[in-house]
Amino acid sequence: MKQEGKVSAGGDLLAKIIEEKKLSLCVECGKCVASCPMAEFYDRFSFLFSARGIVKKALLGLDVLRDPNIWFCLKCDVCAQLCPAGVKYAEFVEDIRQLAIREGVTENSVVCPRCGRYYLPLPTLERLKEILAGKGLADEFIELCPQCRQDDMAGKLAVHTVLAKSSVPRHHPA
Ligand code: SF4
Ligand code: SF4
Repeated sequence: MKQEGKVSAGGDLLAKIIEEKKLSLCVECGKCVASCPMAEFYDRFSFLFSARGIVKKALLGLDVLRDPNIWFCLKCDVCAQLCPAGVKYAEFVEDIRQLAIREGVTENSVVCPRCGRYYLPLPTLERLKEILAGKGLADEFIELCPQCRQDDMAGKLAVHTVLAKSSVPRHHPA
């Protein structure tokens, strides 16, 4: 797809991201769609949220920042590694998500309730919860961002260690 993208939303910043991530080099080969794990992760997989679909919409100047389909990608980077044109799709999608958040489009971004930072797209979180529920597994741990989860776990381990030490009977020499 060797055409210039006319950018109608996101202004210069979006245009810069499109250029930096080499979207205009896309040749529409479809490798990114064929290799994408979203097809297995989500119940339904659509061209609308595939890398090729989003690249096309961005190059056509559609408002990708307000497109809920940009929040499905798992950012595994497989597509970028296989792309014959060098399109850096995972980096592109991360950059436009950050830009969308800065522009106030936050309904599809999940914020950690402890530190307040964005850490997961809503469709990914919802699907993870569905998968865990289907296996009868608890899902509270994914409510926190990875850093807070780690801190939480470290805190619990520290308390556990202190309790374990305090419950060990002391040996008093006769
Ligand atoms: S693999 Fe690259 S060139 Fe092929 S459709 Fe996807 S983004 Fe375009
Ligand atoms: S980075 Fe996103 S679009 Fe690319 S293969 Fe992974 S999940 Fe699919």
